[in-house]
Amino acid sequence: MGSQEVSTVDWQGKHVTVAGLGVSGIPAARALHERGALVTVVNDGDDERARAQAAELEALGITVRLGDGATLPPSTELVVTAPGWQPDKPLFLAAAEAGVPVWGDVELAWRLRGDNGRKAAPWLAVTGTNGKTTTVRMLASILEAAGLRTAAVGNIGVSLLDAVLGETEYDVLAVELSSYQLHWAPSLRAHSSAVLNLAPDHLDWHGSMEAYAADKGRVYEGNTVACVYNVADPATEDLVREADVEEGCRAIGFTLGAPGPSQLGVVDGILVDRAFVANRQKQAQELAEVGDVNPPAPHNIANALAAAALARAFGVEPAAVRDGLRAFRPDAHRIEHVADIGEVAYVDDSKATNTHATEASLAAYDSIVWIAGGLAKGATFDELVTGAAKRLRGVVLMGADRALIREALTRHAPEVPVVDLDRTDTGAMSEAVARAAELARPGDTVLLAPACASMDMFTNYNKRGEAFADAVRARADESA
Ligand code: ADP
Repeated sequence: MGSQEVSTVDWQGKHVTVAGLGVSGIPAARALHERGALVTVVNDGDDERARAQAAELEALGITVRLGDGATLPPSTELVVTAPGWQPDKPLFLAAAEAGVPVWGDVELAWRLRGDNGRKAAPWLAVTGTNGKTTTVRMLASILEAAGLRTAAVGNIGVSLLDAVLGETEYDVLAVELSSYQLHWAPSLRAHSSAVLNLAPDHLDWHGSMEAYAADKGRVYEGNTVACVYNVADPATEDLVREADVEEGCRAIGFTLGAPGPSQLGVVDGILVDRAFVANRQKQAQELAEVGDVNPPAPHNIANALAAAALARAFGVEPAAVRDGLRAFRPDAHRIEHVADIGEVAYVDDSKATNTHATEASLAAYDSIVWIAGGLAKGATFDELVTGAAKRLRGVVLMGADRALIREALTRHAPEVPVVDLDRTDTGAMSEAVARAAELARPGDTVLLAPACASMDMFTNYNKRGEAFADAVRARADESA
């Protein structure tokens, strides 16, 4: 079967076990039930919320088993799992033993696309450790500028199943995929896809860096037009080499330097394409200016180039790449400029929850007062601190694992002043901002890029970013 054709499954009377009540499980159970499958939902939790959700599904005729997500119902012919369920769970071991296939939410959406009689739109897929959401949204903005009917979907918080089964017809989808989703998506075949970068993350789930990389690499399987990789991150190119793609599918690199043939890159402040041009040995096509990218930080230019490569692979004209990038507005808490106070810029990158992301954000400024700390999730900070030491005016540390960062600073940047905040109450962020302001000199940037998760002090990274922005705005008002 050609990779872009739609597969059809006869669901009538098929015994399907849906693992996990939740954002992906409930719509999956409903969609399968509507198609005549005999659905049993299994769920570990048995709290009030789960019971209410179960009651709604049971009213439709779906069986729900609460408090036991480990045992495989005996007649199961297919398991559809929530992407976050870890592969070594007993349910999956039992499925493997019984020869029962396991699909995740993405696999289900891929298999069901087009089954409502609507056109099955091709997918342009993006994965990587950092920059996925930004790149997918840039890509959607470019596709829209080209006049295409599209949406940014997937791990970005918009269900793929809703997108493929909903009322709206799309020409193409910009799909963000996590490593978990890719793990459970064996037959996904994107039109083109990109792996932005690879750094250790979620290793507890995947078991090893090799397994994590292999799951990311699945995104390239069966691509038809382009596998986009990061020239600066050879591991991404290795994944392209290992992938089994359709004949004629090309490897396309992106680089912050001058591009070689079959690459997109940057020359004299211009984003240029040497891949999707008539004569790539001699020709380069101007796409946009660095200043069209918002914000024009190096890692974000890399994201823009990846988005541009996917759009060009889909046949989008250069002018639409420029217009789409200009129209793009970053999501909140991603290198978000909050205010300038007395010639000091205050930037919220609360979404930098791991060291790889923070490294990119520290690389974007020349002189920084860095606010960091939180839950380290097993990370080490030596490399991060070594790389940034020269650009640090000072550091303010907060949160549960701040000592790990402090020790790295003592080892690699002993001359940099460090303020260690030993408080976790609601006023902590405001004190962090006040102390950072004391350290900053005109021309500096006060950067919240914690390199850690937020849950020790905040509900999530959004709340942490809001606390920072509130504290900065209060200072701006005072000084106005
Ligand atoms: P994801 O969806 O992969 O989590 P986001 O686009 O939400 O990625 O960005 C998350 C954080 O990662 C940003 O706040 C920024 O600090 C950092 N980041 C974004 N793009 C890149 C990149 N290409 N390389 C490294 N870090 C990046």
